[in-house]
Amino acid sequence: MAPNRVGLRSRSRFPPFLRRWSGACPRRSFENTRDSPPDGHRGVGNLHDVDTLDLAIDLLSNRTRILVFTGAGISTESGIPDFRGPDGVWKRVDPREFTLDNWVTNGEFRKRSWKRRFSADANAFAPNAAHEAVAALWKTGRMIGCITQNIDGLHQAAGLPGEAVSELHGNSRGIVCWGDQHRADLDEVRARWEAGERDPRCAECGSILKSTTVLFGESLPIAAVATAQQWADTADAVLAVGSTLSVYPAADFPLQVAARGEPFVIINQGKTDHDGFATLKIEGRAGEALPSLVGGLCG
Ligand code: NAD
Repeated sequence: MAPNRVGLRSRSRFPPFLRRWSGACPRRSFENTRDSPPDGHRGVGNLHDVDTLDLAIDLLSNRTRILVFTGAGISTESGIPDFRGPDGVWKRVDPREFTLDNWVTNGEFRKRSWKRRFSADANAFAPNAAHEAVAALWKTGRMIGCITQNIDGLHQAAGLPGEAVSELHGNSRGIVCWGDQHRADLDEVRARWEAGERDPRCAECGSILKSTTVLFGESLPIAAVATAQQWADTADAVLAVGSTLSVYPAADFPLQVAARGEPFVIINQGKTDHDGFATLKIEGRAGEALPSLVGGLCG
């Protein structure tokens, strides 16, 4: 595969120009799964139903290479809004703005983005019980890694080592220039913004700067994609948490594991695009469901 050709796209909620697909990851056809659930499909269970949690523990109890896949919903209990949930960011802002093309060509968009970024307190958000449960699962030695779509760094803040996290959509810790890819120091750029430089430029070549988060239409980080693919190829179960599973190619990774017939457990509040393909979907809050599940697996 050629991971440097993989571009971020959403399957259903964006106009065609945002759905650019390079074909780098093989597409699979899961469309018929709603009509014919996979073998072993147990349906959707509410977290508070008597046997839902027991079923999940049963499905994962003898697995030693569990792939955890997380989305914005795992961080809402830390105070960071998701995109498509009931209070999601897309209810307030137009997702069509968040493209690489717009970043490169629209100075006003860059100014608004830097303002949003630097007027917020960078240390305001702490990991919640769900991030801590993922770190606890890692410590048991039964987890192969965590593919996250999140850019917030809260898995690592909860104690998950960096090598156990694949940040598919980048992270908000770095800043890079659009010209020669010079790295800029986040604190130094923040200081310049606070001093009045509203659209900061690279100190070395004068090009525009950009956060190392991935915008629609932008390539995913090569190393993160390669790691995610390796984990998806060798996982013996997959646990997806707090994601609508609607952004690609990210959502392909859990589906690849499930397509091999391995258990696919989803924890989410609200529907995902692949509830019908999951072995078990747990309808519930990540900060409650995940600690209960991990506690049950460790107990
Ligand atoms: P999404 O917004 O599409 O889906 C989030 C899902 O989580 C929704 O179904 C929502 O109802 C559910 N949810 C919200 N709170 C929950 C909770 N406490 N427990 C269980 N479920 C909960 O998010 P996505 O699938 O990750 O995809 C969208 C994109 O969001 C990704 O590209 C990601 O980079 C970006 N994003 C990241 C952050 C972050 O880093 N924290 C924040 C917003 C968006």
